[in-house]
Amino acid sequence: MKSEDNEETQLEIGDHYLVRRNDKSWHAAEIIQTRAKELGGYEYYVHYDGFNRRLDEWVDLDRLDLSTKLEDQQTKINDVKVMTTDLSDGTDRKLTRNQKRKHDEINHVQKTYAEMDPTTAALEKEHEAITKVKYIDKVQIGKYEIDTWYFSPYPDEYGKQTKLFICEYCLKYMKLEKTFRYHQSQCIYRFPPGKEIYRKGTLSVFEVDGKDSKIYCQNLCLLAKLFLDHKTLYFDVEPFLFYILTEVDRHGCHLVGYFSKEKESPDGNNVACILTLPPFQRKGYGKFLIAFSYELSKLDGTVGSPEKPLSDLGKLSYRSYWSWVLLEILRDFRGTLSIKDLSELTSITQNDIISTLQSLNMVKYWKGQHVICVTPKLVDEHLKSAQYKRPVLTVDSMCLRWEPPRKQQKLNKKL
Ligand SMILES: [Zn+2]
Repeated sequence: MKSEDNEETQLEIGDHYLVRRNDKSWHAAEIIQTRAKELGGYEYYVHYDGFNRRLDEWVDLDRLDLSTKLEDQQTKINDVKVMTTDLSDGTDRKLTRNQKRKHDEINHVQKTYAEMDPTTAALEKEHEAITKVKYIDKVQIGKYEIDTWYFSPYPDEYGKQTKLFICEYCLKYMKLEKTFRYHQSQCIYRFPPGKEIYRKGTLSVFEVDGKDSKIYCQNLCLLAKLFLDHKTLYFDVEPFLFYILTEVDRHGCHLVGYFSKEKESPDGNNVACILTLPPFQRKGYGKFLIAFSYELSKLDGTVGSPEKPLSDLGKLSYRSYWSWVLLEILRDFRGTLSIKDLSELTSITQNDIISTLQSLNMVKYWKGQHVICVTPKLVDEHLKSAQYKRPVLTVDSMCLRWEPPRKQQKLNKKL
């Protein structure tokens, strides 16, 4: 196409305008990227000020109100360049994993950079710079076409497609529908490449070792990143185990969600990343995965906590799971219980228990320690409120066939 056909002038990256959202409301937004459309003109990738970046999207010019250019906005991109260069000496790099914890409180409606400590601000800016533009709008996986939420680092030309086709069994990604259809007829996989450690009814969980099934796990991480904002693991999958939740029918085991877990976690995390694919959300699968992670910790005789930061949706699910588990115990238990007792019963860390009980108004700080303060009436009231209804899907520990890796190692030594 000749450029003179393109009568439309291209707007500047970094400029702010009022943009019409899908719900027809107008909101101030920054132009993050532009791209030429096949039939002429441009599309603009916009970020709505103060909103979660999940809502960033490509819009046509007619959704921008050009009479409302908003002046004097920060030229953020220049800042980012400076800050990320500062990080290149490697010393700060080592902090990455620890610093990530500090992101805990940085929710998606963000603190300003000035309010963060310098390293966190730099990491946050770097993260933003890397993940700004989402080119892949949709993925086809199995029978579902799913709108994506965030950028994911699919290699080169794959990352620039508007739609990717993904095999629901081996998770191979493809650019063309034709290739995808052919692959579906040829793919030999019908379940994840690991050991089935749980089966009840149509639900099945597989344990997949990142070391044994590297490509599958990398593909899973790339897919998951489309729906998770903060996530840094894509290619270094070997130190992790992946627990894959599937729905089983006569065709095979269909991917529903997963969580990953470090084989050795110095921070005591029992979950690194956790995701339920969007078509399966709000059906109880997320809480099932959370409950499953704690069942593994119980068998392992340890306590655990999810790696921070949690996504906004993750936070809600965990809070709800913890509340339900603790309320159930407090309802049925006669006698006194300490926070340590609760932790031993549930494998939930004492910190997570205290913060949950605080949100339920059931803990007091007394002579230097936290003490549970609860009446049966208060427990009942919470349990009756809609927020804490019994999970739809629960883990039946009788159907779990799993030995903690350390116990397996000991066993192998004896043999
Ligand atoms: Zn396949």
